[in-house]
Amino acid sequence: MTEKNKPIEPDTVECDVCLKHIPESVAQTMEGKDYIHHFCGLHCYKKWQETELSDEKAANN
Ligand SMILES: [Zn+2]
Repeated sequence: MTEKNKPIEPDTVECDVCLKHIPESVAQTMEGKDYIHHFCGLHCYKKWQETELSDEKAANN
């Protein structure tokens, strides 16, 4: 008998903003330079975008 009782973890990703685990299929994704950002929803995506933009402003200063 083969062991097939291992719980199969669905592909989950961590939201970049609230760190919630979400199924990859429902995650909002945003490709960065060498990293793909994941978000549980648009509100987190927008939040992240705001911080990204303010980071850029700070870098340009
Ligand atoms: Zn989130």
